[in-house]
Amino acid sequence: MPHVLETPIEYLKGVGPQRGELLRKELNIGTYGDLLLHFPFRYVDRLHFNTVREIAEENAPVQLRGILKQVRMVGERQARRLTAKLVDATGSIELVWFRGLRWLQPILKDGGEYIVYGKPTRFRDQFNIAHPEIESAATWDEGSATPLQPVYSTTEKASAKGLNSRGIGKLVRTLLPQVKGALPETLSSSLVHQLGGIGREQAIMEAHFPQSRENLDLAIRRLKFEELFFIQLQMLKQKQLVQQDVAGQVFGHVGELFNTFYGHHLPFELTDAQKRVVKEIRKDMGSGKQMNRLLQGDVGSGKTLVALLSMLLALDNGFQAAMLAPTEILAQQHFKGITRFLEGLPVVVRLLTGSTKAAERKSLLTALRLGEVHILVGTHALLEDRVVFRKLGLVVIDEQHRFGVEQRARMQAKAAVPPHVLVMTATPIPRTLAMTVYGDLDVSVIDELPPGRKPIRTVHRTDHARNAVFDFLESEIRKGRQVYVVYPLVEESEKSDLKDVMDGFESLSRRFPLPHYAVGIVHGRMTPEQKDYEMARFIKGETNVLVATTVIEVGVDVPNASVMVVENAERFGLSQLHQLRGRVGRGAEHSYCILMTGDKLGNDSRTRINTMVRTQDGFEISEVDLRLRGPGDIMGTQQSGLPKLHVADLVQDAAVLQQARQVAQRLLDADPGLVQPAHAPIAAALREQMKEKAVWGRIG
Ligand code: ADP
Ligand code: MG
Repeated sequence: MPHVLETPIEYLKGVGPQRGELLRKELNIGTYGDLLLHFPFRYVDRLHFNTVREIAEENAPVQLRGILKQVRMVGERQARRLTAKLVDATGSIELVWFRGLRWLQPILKDGGEYIVYGKPTRFRDQFNIAHPEIESAATWDEGSATPLQPVYSTTEKASAKGLNSRGIGKLVRTLLPQVKGALPETLSSSLVHQLGGIGREQAIMEAHFPQSRENLDLAIRRLKFEELFFIQLQMLKQKQLVQQDVAGQVFGHVGELFNTFYGHHLPFELTDAQKRVVKEIRKDMGSGKQMNRLLQGDVGSGKTLVALLSMLLALDNGFQAAMLAPTEILAQQHFKGITRFLEGLPVVVRLLTGSTKAAERKSLLTALRLGEVHILVGTHALLEDRVVFRKLGLVVIDEQHRFGVEQRARMQAKAAVPPHVLVMTATPIPRTLAMTVYGDLDVSVIDELPPGRKPIRTVHRTDHARNAVFDFLESEIRKGRQVYVVYPLVEESEKSDLKDVMDGFESLSRRFPLPHYAVGIVHGRMTPEQKDYEMARFIKGETNVLVATTVIEVGVDVPNASVMVVENAERFGLSQLHQLRGRVGRGAEHSYCILMTGDKLGNDSRTRINTMVRTQDGFEISEVDLRLRGPGDIMGTQQSGLPKLHVADLVQDAAVLQQARQVAQRLLDADPGLVQPAHAPIAAALREQMKEKAVWGRIG
C-alpha cells in the first residue's frame, strides 16, 4: 500500500482536479507529502502594524493597513504596470506591480481596505513598495486567531484561483490531522534531545501552526538541521562507499622526476599554500585509497604547477597522467606550459584535441596504449572511447564547471583500478556551497598568490568618461601593453549583442587605426578556427587590442595584457567579472580593470560593481554572489545539481550546515555502518532518501 504521503494532492478535500493541476504546475506540489513540506516562509505577527509615516529606510519590511486609492494601469508594453496608493491615518505610499497584472487588477478594489506587507524602496525622495503582498482587510480579520500567521509562497496565478497564502494554509489545516501518526522520527533520541526535544511530527505541525515564538524557533531549527544533516550524511556515506570499495593506486615513493624537477627545474620557490596542497595530495595518493580532491585557488594562484607536480608523482610510480581542459586554447596553453617546464627531463607530453590531424592522432593513440606517452593534455577529445591508456594513474581536470560529474566518471572508467582525480577550479565557491555540492570530494585551497603580484586597480566608469578611457588605453598601448575590451556574450538569438560588439570593434578600430595599431575581434559567431587565429595573434602580440565576448573568460594567459575593459559590466555576474579581471595582472606591470556601465544601475548591479572595485578576494566575491543570486545560480553548481531545500537556506543557515556536517561526520566515524540500535531511525531515513536518488550511483 502506498504511503499516505504519496497520495495525489487531488484527493485532498478542497482541491480536486482543477486546483490539483494548478498546485502541480505553479507550486510543484503533487502529493500530500509535497504540501506538508511546503513550509511557510514567514510568519506575520498579526497584532503589529506600521504606519506610513514611520517608514524611514529602504528594504526594512513593513506591515501596513489602509485604504487603496487610485488603482490604475500605467505605461505601455514593456513599461506597463499597475499602481495604487495605500492611505492610512498618517499618509500615503505608492504600491506598484510589474508582473501578474492580469490576475491582480480584478481583485484590487479602489476604496477597499487592505493589509500590505513589503519592503519599501526610495525613488526620487518618495518611498514606494514594489510587489507587496496584499490581502483585503475583511479576509484578514476572518483569518485564524493565532497571533503568528503563517505565510506561504505562491504565484499570482494560483492566488487568483483562491490558492493565496490563506488558501494554502486552509489546505494544510485539512491535511494535518490525516497524516498525524504517519511522520516517523528520523533522528536518534539523543539528537532530538540536543535540538531542544522537538520530535519530527511536532516540528512539522509547529512550523505550519506555531503555538508560540519559542516553539516555532525550535521547530524550524530542528527541521533545518534535519534537512542539512541528511544531505551531508548522504555525501559522506557516498565518499565512504567509494573509499571502501575502490582501492586506490598507491603512489608510494617520491622519485627521480619529482625530485629533479623540484630541485633543479622549478624557476621559483613554491608559495606556502602550494607546498601545503602538494603535501595533501601526496598523502592522498600514497594512502591506498582513491583520491577525489577539489583544488580551489584564485586565478593566478599557481594551480597548474601543483597539478604538474602531482602528475610527476604518478609518473615516478610507473603511471600515466591526463590533464583535461575545457577549451582548445587552454589545452594548448597547458601543453606548451608543461612542455616548457619539463624541458630536459625524460617525459613525453602530447596534446590531443578535436583538431589533431588523423595521422597524428593515430600514432599518438598507439603510443598512448603502449605507455610511451607519459602525460596527455587535451580537451573533451580525451573522453572518447578510442583513447586508451596503458596505465592511467591520475586525471587532472581544469576548470570543473565546464565538466559534469558524468565526464569525471568517463575519465575514471579508463583504468582498471580507478585513477586518482584532481579537479581544479578558479571559481572559488563559498564554503557552505562547496560542502553541499562537492561534499563527496576533499577540498584543498590555495589561498595565497605568488609574491610580487601587484593589485589590479579597478575602477567604475560611465559612458561620459569614454574619451578619457580611450586616452588611457592609448597611453598603455604606447608603453607596449595590450588591452582586452569585453562585451556581453553573443548568443545565437541575441542580435543586439552582436551589434554591440561589432560597433565597439569599429569605434576602437577608428580610434586605434592601422598601420600604427591593430585591433582584433573574437566572438561567439566565429568558427573555432577563426577564433583561434585571432587569439593566437593577440597572444603573439600582433594585435594591441582584443575586442571579445566572454570566450576569453577561461584561463587564457597573456602576461603582456595589462588592461581589461568590461563594457556593459552591469550585465555580467560577479564570478564572470572576477574571472575576466583575472586575465590581467599576470605580468610584472601595473594592471587595470575598467568597468563601464550606463548611468542608471539597479541595486544588485551597483552591489556587484562596488564589490569588484572594493576587493580582489575571490572568496569574498563569491560570498557576495551567493547572497545576491542564491545558491542555484552560482557558477560551478549547475551541473553538479544542488539538492532542493524546503526549509534551510545555504546563505542564512551556514552555521547550521556546519553543525550538521560535523555531527554527520562524527556519527559515521563512530558507527560507519549505522548499525547501532540508537541510530536505527537515522539509518532507515537515509536508506529511504538514497533509494530515491538514482544519481547517487557510484562515481568511482
Ligand atoms: P592558475 O591557478 O590561474 O591556473 P597558473 O598555474 O596559470 O595559475 O599560474 C599563474 C602564473 O604564476 C604562471 O605564470 C605560473 O608560472 C606562475 N607561478 C605559479 N607558481 C608560482 C610561484 N610559486 N612563484 C612565482 N610564480 C608562480
Ligand atoms: Mg589555470
